[in-house]
Amino acid sequence: MEQVQAEKRVKELQDLLNQYNYEYHVLDKPSVPDSEYDRLLKELIQLEEKYPHLKTPDSPTGRVGGNVLDAFEKVQHRTPMLSLGNAFNEADLRDFDRKVRQAVGDRYQYVCELKIDGLAVSLRYEDGQFVQGATRGDGTIGEDITANLRTIKSIPLKLTEPVSLEVRGEAYMPKRSFHALNEIKEVNGEEPFANPRNAAAGSLRQLDPKIAASRNLDVFLYAIGDIGTTGVESHSEGLELLEKLGFKTNKERRVCPTIDDVLEYVNSWVEKRASLPYEIDGIVIKVDSLQQQEELGTTAKSPRWAIAYKFPAEEVVTKLTGIELTVGRTGVVTPTAILEPVKVAGTTVKRASLHNEDLIREKDIKIGDYVVIKKAGDIIPEVVKVLAEKRTGEEQSFSMPKECPECHSELVHLDGEVAVRCINPKCPAQIREGLIHFVSRDAMNIDGLGEKVITQLFKENLIEDVADIYRLQFDQLVNLERMGEKSAQNLLDAIEKSKENSLEKLLFGLGIRHVGAKAAKILAQEFGTIDHLRLATVEQLRNINEIGEKMADSIHSYFNLEEAIEVIEELKSLGINMEYKGPRIRALEDVDSYFAGKTIVLTGKLLQLSRDEAKEKIELYGGKVTGSVSKKTDLVIAGEDAGSKLTKAEQLGIEVWNEERFLEELKS
Ligand code: NAD
Repeated sequence: MEQVQAEKRVKELQDLLNQYNYEYHVLDKPSVPDSEYDRLLKELIQLEEKYPHLKTPDSPTGRVGGNVLDAFEKVQHRTPMLSLGNAFNEADLRDFDRKVRQAVGDRYQYVCELKIDGLAVSLRYEDGQFVQGATRGDGTIGEDITANLRTIKSIPLKLTEPVSLEVRGEAYMPKRSFHALNEIKEVNGEEPFANPRNAAAGSLRQLDPKIAASRNLDVFLYAIGDIGTTGVESHSEGLELLEKLGFKTNKERRVCPTIDDVLEYVNSWVEKRASLPYEIDGIVIKVDSLQQQEELGTTAKSPRWAIAYKFPAEEVVTKLTGIELTVGRTGVVTPTAILEPVKVAGTTVKRASLHNEDLIREKDIKIGDYVVIKKAGDIIPEVVKVLAEKRTGEEQSFSMPKECPECHSELVHLDGEVAVRCINPKCPAQIREGLIHFVSRDAMNIDGLGEKVITQLFKENLIEDVADIYRLQFDQLVNLERMGEKSAQNLLDAIEKSKENSLEKLLFGLGIRHVGAKAAKILAQEFGTIDHLRLATVEQLRNINEIGEKMADSIHSYFNLEEAIEVIEELKSLGINMEYKGPRIRALEDVDSYFAGKTIVLTGKLLQLSRDEAKEKIELYGGKVTGSVSKKTDLVIAGEDAGSKLTKAEQLGIEVWNEERFLEELKS
C-alpha cells in the first residue's frame, strides 16, 4: 500500500473503531460482531507498525475501552485497569511464550483462567468493608457503580479480615438469566440484548439499583489491584488470598508449567464451554510470578505478562455475492446466499439458506451486501443481518423468478405458504431430490448412495424412480465415473441390505407430504404393515395422537394416487420389506406408567441418556414429548445447563425433575 493510501486507511480504521468502541463500551449496543472489530483492529495495528508516524496518541490501538457516562460519579483508578492482548491460534500463543522466555528466562509458569464474558469491575475495601465499586471506563477513570454492585449477592460487603485493598473481577450475567431477560424484553416489544456481556454492562450502568438487583448478576474475582503489603508473591497465591477473604473466584483455573500445557487447557475448553452456565469468550493466560510480571511490564493498553486466547468467532462479516435457487423434492424453490468464503466457529462457510422471499425482504438483503453470518445451533449457517452502512449503492435487489429454474414451468404460491413451488410432477429437480431423500439416513439409509452418486445415476438415465434403485446392476455401476469394482459391489450390498429395513424407514423415504421421520414411526407402530395403512380411513388417521388433520388428509390422498400404488407394488415385488419390526404401541389405557397421557418437555443436557433415547422411553410409556413449555405441559425434565425453558416452567409452576429423578421413575 502506498503512503497516501495507508494514511487514508488508517484514518478510516481509527474512525470506525472509535465508533464501534463507543457503541460497545458506552451504549452497550454493538452494531458489528466482535470478530469484525478484532479484524479491523488487527489491520490497524499492522498498518501502524509499518508506518509508525501514522500512529496518533488517541489511536484505538493504544486506548482501553470507551468513555465514561456523565450520569455517574467518576472514580480514578489507583493502578490502571488495562485491556488484554489477543491470541487467535496456536502460533500466536507460542509467539507470546517466546517473548516471555526472552524476557524472564526459562523458569516460569502460567496460570490459565476462563475469560468470562462480562464487564470488568474494581471493588475497594477499607478495613474489610466494601466502600466503592467502579467500571473500568477508559482504564484510568471509571464510573462509580457502588449501589448497583451492592446488589450482587456474591460480592461480600464485609471481608473475613479487616484489610484494605482493591480487587478486580468480572461481573457477568449467567446464561439462564440472560435468556429469561431477553424473553421478557421480547414480550414487552423491546430490543433484546446482543449478548450476556452487553446485558451485564447495561444492567450495571443503570441509575436505579433496583434494575441491577432484578437482573441476577454474578461475579468472579481474578486479581488484586495493588498487591501492596499482602505478602503475596504470585498470581495463584493472590487468588487463594481472595478466597480466604471471602471472594468468589473461578475454580476452573489451572497452573500450567509449559505452553504445551496451556494449549491443552485451551483446547479442552473449545467444546466444553457450551456446558458452562455462563458465557466465556476465551482463555486468559497469565505469568504466575508477580516479580516476573513486573519485569515484563505493560504497554499503554495491556500487560505483556498476559494474553487472551479468543475462541473461533461465531459471528462474522462477509460479502453476499449472489443468490442461487434450488428446487427441493416437494417443489419448494429455496433461495441460497452465496458468500465470500469465511470461517465461522472454526469451519469455512460459503452458502447459507435464505429460506424464502419474505425473509429476504424482511432482512432487506441485496446482492453485494456485507452481512453478518452466524451458525445457528453451531451447525447451520444463517444470515443474521445486513450491514446497511457498508452499502456503496452498487448492491442489487433480488426478486423470485416466475419460472422454475430447472423445468421452466410456472411457479405458484400455494394458499397460506410463504414459499413458492414448482408443481410440475415431472420436474427433474424434484425427482432427483426425492431420490436423494429416499436413500438418506433417516429413510432407507443406503451407504455409498449419496447426493453425488444419485445425481450421476439420474443423469445417465439409470434411475427414474425409487424402484429403479433396486434394479441396478453391477455392470451399470462399475462403469460410472469414480466407481471401482469394490465400491460398486459395496453399493449393491448396501442396497440389498436396505430391503430389510423396518417399515417406518420406507414410509419416511416415500416422501409423503407432512410425514416426517417421527410421524412415519408412529404410523408404522399403529398399522404394522403398509397394506393396513393404505386401507386406513381419514377418520382412523386423525384419531391417532400426533397425526393432525393436514397430515391425515395428505396420507390418505397419497395412498389414492395411482402412481404411488404402482411404486409400492413394484417395491414389494422387488423384495422390499413392508412391515414394522419394532415393538408395537400399546393402547394408552393399557399403559400403567407415570408418563401415560402426559405432555413432557426435555431441556438441558442429559448425561446418562441421549435426548432421543429419553424421548423414546417416554413415548414407549405413553407420554408425549413437546418442544416448548406452555400451560399444557405436565412435566419438565431438566438436565445440566437448562436455560429459558426451565425458567418458564418455574414461572408457570410446572413440576420439574432432574435427570436422576427421571431415571428413577423409568426404573420403577
Ligand atoms: P478484552 O475483553 O478482550 O479483554 C480484557 C478484559 O477481559 C478485561 O478487562 C476483563 O474484563 C476481561 N476478563 C475476563 N476474564 C478475565 C480473567 N480471568 N482475567 C483477566 N481479565 C479477564 O478486551 P477489552 O479491551 O475489554 O475489549 C475488547 C473486546 O471487546 C474484544 O473482544 C472486542 O472484540 C470487543 N469489542 C467489540 C466491539 C464491537 O463493536 N463489537 C467494539 C469494541 C470492543
